[in-house]
Parts: sequence; C-alpha cells; structure tokens
Amino acid sequence: MHALSAKARVAALSALATLLTGAAVLRAEQEPPVVARHVAAAKAASGAHWQELFTRLCAAPSPPAAASSASAASSASAAPSASAASPAAKAPPERSKWYAEPVKVFDNLYYVGMTEYSAWAVTTSAGIILVDTLYDYSVEAEVVEGLRKLGLDPASIKYAVISHGHRDHAGGAKYLQDTFGTKIVVSAEDWELLEQSKDDEPRRDVVATDGMKLTLGDTTLRLYLTPGHTLGTVSVVIPLKDHGRSHTAIMWGGTAFNWLNNREGYITPDRPDRFWFQHYIQSAARLANVAAKARADVLLSNHTIFDGSKTKLPLLSNRTAQQPHPYVVGGKAVRDYLTVARECAQAGLARLSAR
Ligand SMILES: [Zn+2]
Repeated sequence: MHALSAKARVAALSALATLLTGAAVLRAEQEPPVVARHVAAAKAASGAHWQELFTRLCAAPSPPAAASSASAASSASAAPSASAASPAAKAPPERSKWYAEPVKVFDNLYYVGMTEYSAWAVTTSAGIILVDTLYDYSVEAEVVEGLRKLGLDPASIKYAVISHGHRDHAGGAKYLQDTFGTKIVVSAEDWELLEQSKDDEPRRDVVATDGMKLTLGDTTLRLYLTPGHTLGTVSVVIPLKDHGRSHTAIMWGGTAFNWLNNREGYITPDRPDRFWFQHYIQSAARLANVAAKARADVLLSNHTIFDGSKTKLPLLSNRTAQQPHPYVVGGKAVRDYLTVARECAQAGLARLSAR
C-alpha cells in the first residue's frame, strides 16, 4: 500500500460523504440506471422541504423475500384485500410515548394529533370537520381534550374524514360516532377494509367518492380517491385562512409503500407489487394536477415525519402575523412533494423488473 495521493484522498472523502448522506443515495449508485434515474429525480424534487419523505420512500428495501410469490399463491383463495393492518390487540403504549399538545395552525385549522400521527380539525361556521381520528386509545386525549384545551367543542365534530382504513387513522372513529354522533366519511374500498378487521368498527356512514364536496357551514372540502397506500385512500383539499389571507392545503392520504413489508395484507395473485406501485404512481401524478388547479400552497400529511410537522408545529407558538407561516411552502413545493412520492414509487416499480 502506498500513501494516498491528494486526488485519491479527495475521492475517498467524497465517497465517505456519499456514505454519510444516506443509504438511499449510496444504494442508488449500485442500482440499475433506470432505478437510479428515478431516485435522482426524487432527490432533486425533495429540495429543502422533503428530505425525510425522500429518505423513507426512496431507500431500496431489503430484498423482499422470494417467498412473496409462494405466499401469494397460497393465499389465492383467501384473496384478502389490504387488511386493516391491525396487529394483534395489545396494551396501548404509555401516554408519555405519544402525547402531543394541540396547536392552532391556521385561523380555521388545528393540530390535534399525536407525536407521530396527525389529526387535523377544520373549523367552520357550523361545526368541525376532523381529518383522521388517530387510534382508539388516543382519540380522547388528543382530539377531545385537545379541542377543549383550544376552546373548541368536541361535540361539534360533525364529520370525520378517514384518509384510509388503518388503525392509526381510523381507530378513533367509532368513539366519535358513538359519543358525538360524528358522521364518519370513508371510501367504499376502505369501508370494506375496516369491516374486515376484527376490531370494533364504526357503522357505515358516508361513502367518500372521487371529487366529492364535503360542505359544512361556510366551508367545503374536496375529497379525491388516491389508491395506492390502500385501495381506497382519500386525499383532501382544504381551504385555509391565515390572519384572514386565503391558502389551500392538500393532504396526501397515504404515504408509505406498505405492501413491501405487510405482504399478507396486500399481495395476492391479482394484486402483486406492480399493482400497488402503479396505482400509487397514478394517484400521485393525478393529485399533483389537482394541487396545481386548486393552487395548493400548503402540504399536510397524516404523519408528522413527512410534512415537517415535527419542526413546523413548535415554530407556530412564537410566530407573529408578520412572519411567514411555516406550513405555507408554495405551489411548487407542494407539487415537489408529490413528485418525490411518485418518483420513489417509480424507482420501486423499476426495482421489480431489475430483480
Ligand atoms: Zn396506513
């Protein structure tokens, strides 16, 4: 071994830097060019706002077991649609592990979620529309008590829109329905998903359809079916006001590529990985158009990690009306978010062919 030349040292340092910038980037270099191109496009779109989304969605998964096709074949007759992913009932986690304080975010939007899972309360002239209901064990502490802390009345939650039928978003729905008569709004596909689960589920109320207007008092939300994360994932367009100025939010209803880890709930002979990736890609592309037409300048998620809520929510407490709103990222950044989601899904799809 001879001493490293300056050039080699620079190369070694830059290789180390690459290592440190994340596994996704490193893996991309080892991946087929078509995969690497999509990862690079996602990386470029992630910009200053959406690093976390990029890292989570674009990282190459540990190779899915070759068992996938075997297990899919064996479950052919059962052919479950994506399950409600309810892990066997176990004691709920301690409150200190998940509790988050409620936050007023816009004139008419309040954060009443947990540290990781979001619930958004939209206030109108005739009551509240809630978007997502958290878990059954946290809905009271976060949504009910949270609204009271903010001076709002939980009994005025007229509608709860469920982004998709997984426990972290739909678990609190039955409580709200039973306690306040809240009307639960879910897509037909995800009503089925909920009804297949063994948990105590809400009675079927409102079926969300594509392009549906959900109006309460002076406020109308638009719902869009964006299958991918589940068959009936719902994304929502929400009109907002910040000190009287109008903004528009898009909430992307389901983010992670769950089928890569939760094979049993998703993969059947009719619905291989390709099926889920393709739907996700179409939905992300379509919602980017919706966002552009709606002039959406705010991006909301139902997980705090994806939309930057972990850093944005604390910023709101000291903010004055003159300071920029941390959630108002502009139209391009909103579309960039959906580009990251779509390009990472395209990378995932391309990885299938490369296997
Ligand atoms: Zn989910």
